[in-house]
Amino acid sequence: MVVLGIESTAHTASVGIVDERARVVALTSDMHKPAHGGIHPREAANHHVDLLPGLVARALADGHVAPADVEAVAFAQGPGLGPCLRAGATVARMLAMAWDRPLVPVNHCVSHVEIARVLSGLDDPVLLYASGGNTQVIAYARGRYRVLGETLDVGIGNFLDKLWIALGGTFPGGPALEREALQGGALHPLPYSVHGMDVAFSGILTAALALHARGVPRPDLAYSVEVTAYSMLTEITERALAHLKGRAVVLGGGVACNERLRGMVRAMVEGRGGTMFAPPRSLCVDNGAMIAWTGLLAHRAGLDVPIRDSAVAPRQRTDLVRTPWREAPGVVPGPSVASRAGEAA
Ligand code: AMP
Ligand code: MG
Repeated sequence: MVVLGIESTAHTASVGIVDERARVVALTSDMHKPAHGGIHPREAANHHVDLLPGLVARALADGHVAPADVEAVAFAQGPGLGPCLRAGATVARMLAMAWDRPLVPVNHCVSHVEIARVLSGLDDPVLLYASGGNTQVIAYARGRYRVLGETLDVGIGNFLDKLWIALGGTFPGGPALEREALQGGALHPLPYSVHGMDVAFSGILTAALALHARGVPRPDLAYSVEVTAYSMLTEITERALAHLKGRAVVLGGGVACNERLRGMVRAMVEGRGGTMFAPPRSLCVDNGAMIAWTGLLAHRAGLDVPIRDSAVAPRQRTDLVRTPWREAPGVVPGPSVASRAGEAA
């Protein structure tokens, strides 16, 4: 049996199908790219409404999955943009009704941890979740996933996108800045904004634009921004690890595709004698497979909901979500299975 998961919290509409050993049977995605400026929730939701039915059909065809093989339908309940979440939830409800299958709501942030956990075989890692709208350090403690530190203003990806667009580029800014930074090498001082376990980016944005106005070349600017912002993320991750006496870090979110960030976090973790794992890029960015996998865990832990209780939750807090499967040993497969799932992705 397999579980089908629908992701639609922000830019990306995605449908994933996974089996009970966390193998990704199918994954189809499409990212809404605004013609100019940042994301508009209604436009992104229209994109998801248009594309999700086709993505579902393609995922079923790619995975040679019949509706009768589907054990449950999972969807991202929150956090995210209301109109986008509703698009995914509506498709999930429709499939659950049409196929007469259980409906399982999933917290998007928890699903980033769970997919990294099963792929890595690391039992109790700290997650550095660096995406467009979210920047958080998350770990499991006393029955819940807890947000130990987070951005005090915008998500790091939104910050990078905003900067790149202000410098004349187009969305998404993160990968473009990464390429630009490889040509740079002069480090210009920027505000280093770490507050305990939290970070802030708007001061860096203002200062970087001021440097740009003073004629600092774009590659050096990109390099300085990356080094500063990723150092901040590495520092708060290290602080979490030190407090928890933890030994493992996993990465999630689109910004976790960044090689410099991966390298900095890896050096920090390995310097402490621990292990760092970054999922393959297709499973780092928002994707339906992580929703399907977490949906499978939640379904088997009895967290299905009737349709009338399946409202989306745009501000759902990670700390408030029940994760009973974490207490039940043996649900999560070991590393040998995990590495096969990694290959499939
Ligand atoms: P997500 O919100 O997780 O879907 O990720 C989207 C965000 O990741 C956007 O803000 C992108 O600019 C950012 N992103 C994607 N690839 C990279 C990269 N290689 N380096 C930095 N940021 C990236
Ligand atoms: Mg995400």
